[in-house]
Amino acid sequence: MESADVVIVGGGIMGCALAYQLSKRNVDVLLLERETLGSQSTGKCAGGVRQQFSSEGNVRLQRRSVAMLEHFEEEVGHPADFRQIGYLFVLTQPQHVEDFGHNMEMWHRVGLTEARWVDAAEAARMVPILNVEDVLGCTFCPSDGIASPADVTSGYAAAARRHRARLKEGVAVTGIDVASGRVQGVRTTAGDIATRLVFRCAGAWSASIGRMAGLEIPVLPYRRHIAVTGTFPALHRDNPMTVDFQTSLYFHPEGDGVLIGMSDREEPPGFISDVNWDFLEKMFHSRAGRFLVRGRLQRPRLHAGAGGGSVPRPALAGSHVGGRHLVIRVRAVRAGLAGQGKKRHLVSSARSSLHLRGLGGRAPSHPAESCDSAGPRERR
Ligand SMILES: Cc1cc2nc3c(=O)[nH]c(=O)nc-3n(C[C@H](O)[C@H](O)[C@H](O)COP(=O)(O)OP(=O)(O)OC[C@H]3O[C@@H](n4cnc5c(N)ncnc54)[C@H](O)[C@@H]3O)c2cc1C
Repeated sequence: MESADVVIVGGGIMGCALAYQLSKRNVDVLLLERETLGSQSTGKCAGGVRQQFSSEGNVRLQRRSVAMLEHFEEEVGHPADFRQIGYLFVLTQPQHVEDFGHNMEMWHRVGLTEARWVDAAEAARMVPILNVEDVLGCTFCPSDGIASPADVTSGYAAAARRHRARLKEGVAVTGIDVASGRVQGVRTTAGDIATRLVFRCAGAWSASIGRMAGLEIPVLPYRRHIAVTGTFPALHRDNPMTVDFQTSLYFHPEGDGVLIGMSDREEPPGFISDVNWDFLEKMFHSRAGRFLVRGRLQRPRLHAGAGGGSVPRPALAGSHVGGRHLVIRVRAVRAGLAGQGKKRHLVSSARSSLHLRGLGGRAPSHPAESCDSAGPRERR
């Protein structure tokens, strides 16, 4: 029977980062991915990397994550396409300004001293397409930014393989054998594997992996949408990732276009991951005024654009900041699942250190526990 010191379930950014962190410490790693590496949440994500969180633990973790991304190519041998364009949180509610005031104190206390307040006038200068009419204030952290999830994941995967980790695609874990409170092995669509340690890196599917070992894991799947426009010269490539905190709408430059996303807070958790065109229409209709168009607006509307195909390619019609008529072609739309717990690739590093001690002779504190890679949920 095949065996491994460690089996990692899931080959998204978390699993690949963990495979790298463990294999570079000479651990015998087998990663099992039922689809292809990085093809699920990781492959559909917006690539935002921020340190502005409301919990201190997340801020500390993300500071280390950013430091790691800054040196990713030196360490991993592959570019991360990390562009520190900053994150601008746009606040329109007095309560949110108060909350972010407390956050700002905490950020400075833990060393995120570059985070600062930006008033509406400065925000309008930073992001000329931003409608700041009702903006009470913004927070800005210049060391936040965007990275390429595909590059980071494939970089970690390649580096893990160089350290002799085995990463297998098209293999689903179907069961975890536990006896006397200890993991004995995993069952898969390609046969059984003997192991004493299983890392759960299955993202939105984490709960099902937990159940295989008799554990209830409170990670729920939520559908998330993003749309990428065609060429959009009004947004400079260095404009920050901009987030309307009240609505959760966010956008950042993507190639020569704009990537736009928003959470549907009314949608219950579930595993549906096809595009909800009604929600996309809502996203553009109700919120686009803040970011994409302002001045004397023509009401934005979605319509099928040129290009044909089975899926209509929508466009947003409105008026540009300067008053010019503008039709934005939407180049791509994706929906994907995000687990309720936020994952940070650095968690893999921390977890690997923690659990390596278990491999080095001392048992992990709860041997039958599948190791969690999810952190607390926070709003984008
Ligand atoms: C539209 C969208 C935008 C997002 N934007 C951002 C953002 O800007 N910034 C940010 O930090 N996060 C963002 N996220 C969240 C981010 O994508 C996820 O937190 C992250 O990719 C999770 O990585 P993961 O490796 O845990 O999960 P995944 O990438 O989903 O990997 C889990 C893997 O486990 C595999 N798997 C599941 N069950 C099994 C099994 N039984 N056997 C074998 N394999 C299995 C799956 O096939 C999958 O490949 C976004 C998500 C979406 C959908």
